[in-house]
Amino acid sequence: MEGYTKFIVTGTNPRFPSFLQGFNRRWFAGSCEAVYVCYDAAGTAASLEEAIQLYGKNVRIKSGGHCYENFVFNETTKAIIDVSAMDRCGFDPNKGYYLESGGTNWSAFNTLFRDYGKVLPAGSCYSVGLGGHICGGGYGLLSRLNGLTIDWLTGVEVAVKDSAHSPAQLRYVSADSTGNDEQDLYWAHRGGGGGNFGVITRYYFKELPDSPSRAFITQMSIRWTEITPDVLAGLLNYFTDLATDSNNWRQFGIFALHHISQGEIVLTIQTAVLQNEDPAVIKAQYVDHLPDKIGSIAPYQLTTRASISSLGGHIQPTAHTIEYTFYEAVQTLNGSGSNQRGKYKSAYMRKGFPQQQVDAIYQYLTATTGVDMSQCLLQVDTYGGMINTVAPNATAIPQRSSVLKLQYQAYWSENADDAVYLKWMNDFYTTMYAATGGTPNPVLDPANNVDGCYYNYPDSDLNRFGGLDAALQLYFGNNLPRLKQAKRRWDPNNYFNSFQSIPLR
Ligand SMILES: Cc1cc2nc3c(=O)[nH]c(=O)nc-3n(C[C@H](O)[C@H](O)[C@H](O)COP(=O)(O)OP(=O)(O)OC[C@H]3O[C@@H](n4cnc5c(N)ncnc54)[C@H](O)[C@@H]3O)c2cc1C
Repeated sequence: MEGYTKFIVTGTNPRFPSFLQGFNRRWFAGSCEAVYVCYDAAGTAASLEEAIQLYGKNVRIKSGGHCYENFVFNETTKAIIDVSAMDRCGFDPNKGYYLESGGTNWSAFNTLFRDYGKVLPAGSCYSVGLGGHICGGGYGLLSRLNGLTIDWLTGVEVAVKDSAHSPAQLRYVSADSTGNDEQDLYWAHRGGGGGNFGVITRYYFKELPDSPSRAFITQMSIRWTEITPDVLAGLLNYFTDLATDSNNWRQFGIFALHHISQGEIVLTIQTAVLQNEDPAVIKAQYVDHLPDKIGSIAPYQLTTRASISSLGGHIQPTAHTIEYTFYEAVQTLNGSGSNQRGKYKSAYMRKGFPQQQVDAIYQYLTATTGVDMSQCLLQVDTYGGMINTVAPNATAIPQRSSVLKLQYQAYWSENADDAVYLKWMNDFYTTMYAATGGTPNPVLDPANNVDGCYYNYPDSDLNRFGGLDAALQLYFGNNLPRLKQAKRRWDPNNYFNSFQSIPLR
């Protein structure tokens, strides 16, 4: 199909309600009147123009629908530009590999891997949309090896509406753009996040990393019956050492610190085997010692099915380490989980966990709240490696000296329980960052450990700690002024707005 299709609310269209909700069941666009499904770039620009003429500042953009907050689906939303039908991937001889913004992690991986032997160092969850994911940073299991996806982004095609008096138009901006404004728009799409400057239709990459050939996935669980605060401290120290090691960028770790009611915490380490490498040599060098190191801290088990499914994994392990073809490794760790109610927070860390934070983690992961906590966790990911070879102002993401990235997560099903889960997470977070004003604010951290938050894990609560600007400082640090400059030039009427969008001033 070409152009776009417009659906309007009539009460009889069976498709309409399904367009008004994404992955997080807490959010719904109950007052939405029109949905524009776009099939190509020209159709995107045309639908954007019509939507803004009719609905002004109440137009939202949706790709994969995985936004953690209600930036797309909320009661002010009157129209949605849905790009999910644009999911092609290919190669342009002048501009490089391209991915349309309606693709997903899975469609991008599948095509790049199959047709070109290339990969994005992007997220693992299959259904996350490229529209929000890439421009917000895009990190995943290959990021220590290959950096962030935006580190490879060399161009972007975007439908902008930079004047109320002229129609929305398509712009291609790239590393080669000559004008300052064009350079700003390109730079802003390297981490400045979705829903801020225009509707992205295509991402371009002149080069991309070669795919690994195989991967070892090592998975070990430690039962909560074995965990004391000292054991937890030992495990976190071990994980921090793994993340700080400068000789193992091929390894990426996910430490899922589940609440005690889940029964166990789960350590997953992916070790990539590159083309022309001997898997046996890589295993001996990087993998074989892992169980002994963990075992010297606490007894470990094979991971149970319940913990694996909460991580999105599909295969019940029969050994602590399994060798996969690379395609199979991606399939094994690509789950997104089910659509539920959810709340998330994030934090970057430059060093390990001080004792006060270990105590807070132990306290909140063993707390009783009166509701089912088995889907509540703190996920600690390794970071750094190649990511930290990039200057803090080269892209909009300034966090280039962190070694850990934390994601606080809670999932539940009943809206009546919202307040309990939100309180648990808010209390957990403010206790963790009590020494820096309740958030991981690097400006208030004499120990130089915490380093702000990730815009792709948006958290509206951050606005409570000093307003929107203070929240955006946590995401963007000293890069915020340039993002505002790009906003003033490319969206001076603030058509693209949300609770945490880039403001004009
Ligand atoms: C299950 C799950 C797993 C995740 N795993 C990872 C991970 O491994 N690594 C990681 O880095 N992140 C991860 N994330 C976070 C993810 O990167 C962000 O939630 C991302 O913004 C989602 O993009 P989307 O297009 O699916 O969401 P949407 O809700 O469609 O969009 C998110 C934001 O981007 C805007 N947007 C969407 N499309 C466009 C477009 N074409 N042009 C301009 N703006 C647009 C929207 O308006 C919104 O503000 C995960 C999220 C979930 C829910």
